Amino acid sequence: MDTWTTAAYLIAALLFVVSLAGLSKHETSRSGVVFGVSGMAVAVVATVVALFTGGGPGALGVILLVVALVIGAVIGLWRARVVEMTGMPELIALMHSFVGLAAVLVGWNGFLEVESGNTALAGALLGIHHAEVVIGVFIGAVTFTGSIIAFGKLSGRVKSNPLQLPGKNVLNLGALVAFVVLTVVFVITPNLWLLVAVTVLALLLGLHLVASIGGGDMPVVVSMLNSYSGWAAAASGFLLGNDLLIITGALVGSSGAYLSYVMCKAMNRSFISVIAGGFGAPTGSAAAVEGEHREIDAAGVAELLADAGSVIITPGYGMAVAQAQYPVADLTRTLRERGVEVRFGVHPVAGRLPGHMNVLLAEAQVPYDIVLEMDEINDDFPETDVVLVIGANDTVNPAATDDPGSPIAGMPVLTVWEAKNVIVFKRSMATGYAGVQNPLFFRENTQMLFGDAKDRVQDIVAAMKVPANA
Ligand code: NDP
Repeated sequence: MDTWTTAAYLIAALLFVVSLAGLSKHETSRSGVVFGVSGMAVAVVATVVALFTGGGPGALGVILLVVALVIGAVIGLWRARVVEMTGMPELIALMHSFVGLAAVLVGWNGFLEVESGNTALAGALLGIHHAEVVIGVFIGAVTFTGSIIAFGKLSGRVKSNPLQLPGKNVLNLGALVAFVVLTVVFVITPNLWLLVAVTVLALLLGLHLVASIGGGDMPVVVSMLNSYSGWAAAASGFLLGNDLLIITGALVGSSGAYLSYVMCKAMNRSFISVIAGGFGAPTGSAAAVEGEHREIDAAGVAELLADAGSVIITPGYGMAVAQAQYPVADLTRTLRERGVEVRFGVHPVAGRLPGHMNVLLAEAQVPYDIVLEMDEINDDFPETDVVLVIGANDTVNPAATDDPGSPIAGMPVLTVWEAKNVIVFKRSMATGYAGVQNPLFFRENTQMLFGDAKDRVQDIVAAMKVPANA
């Protein structure tokens, strides 16, 4: 690699680090994206230039490269333009699967190059190369099928219930032991069928790991697969001798692992238990939820808000589905102009992506300083007049704290039921993503406002703007 390419890769790597730092705060997230895009542009240009100046891939190689770049860019632009915010999680899961598949292909290519005598490696270096091949293929294949199942679960194509195969932990552990044995044998006596065996084993393991995880733990799975995709890219970087891919892969791998850890803490789950495919997750059955619910209409909510001094809004996935963030921002402005204290309580796993609600609220220009994390707001519910639960369900479910048999038992939730009045915006009495009944709907201080969240919030804003004597 020449000096210019190394310098360009170093600049790209620095831009990625600055980008990650920027993405960690609302205020700097836009510049974080700009730094990330710039880093990737520098990386792509430097790689293409290095290919041509370093002997070049030949005319056919150039054509293939250009065709691949154009097809990739067109598909990427098209998907980015048409994807709904609610479709982002599954799109990201699908992209992780591409990284995994690419790592498998790079690994296989590394092996076939040696087989065809197309390498100068020998002795210990060849052994290291074979270890890189088998590790890259393994991580890539686990990421590939795991991400496909995650895509299915997030898009509703696959049921979110955990797959409960008998002895599932033994199966996972057995697969890991088999992988270690196969790796050692492959490094000593490389053989096509051993690599086929590792690939099939890893594909099945990825499938089983993610299929065994219940809906409530999916947030951790998404960040965990993000981490795996980073390690898969880093493994490809070692094989291709590409420093930037190693650095970028390690950045994605470690930040994804840290995010998984943060998500596990937020959900009170053991990190090991989740990455081991739901090992040790609650298995009892949830207590039956019975009772009568009360309903309210938009005009009734407007009246309640007119008398309120403090309001907390807890948004959830339904706000994203309804695209209700703009009327919610409008309602917030209307209330604040009337002197009502309005704040938002955002659960760490609300929606379908880490930071999903924060992105939507920022998009609708809700001021950052009234958007608080769960830990910052949970103590304030008892002094709050009205809580508006807009399309949230699992993240406000008291069963998480009251019912040890619940699949979401132990997950910290927004304790909205401690407020004086709770209004739940949703279309029906259906359960949330984890498929768990919500006793909040039957509490004495809860009233249900049925319908699409966007329509209902607009109705409330309209009712509030009608003069009292009209
Ligand atoms: P939930 O998914 O628990 O519930 C959303 C609610 O929104 C549903 O009960 C639904 O009820 C209602 N809803 C849907 N569409 C509309 C609409 N147009 N108008 C009004 N209401 C609507 O949401 P939460 O945000 O509380 O919880 C997130 C869940 O997703 C958690 O279980 C979390 O673990 C999981 N998850 C989170 C990820 C993340 O990274 N944040 C990733 C993967 C999973 P109805 O159909 O009756 O309208």
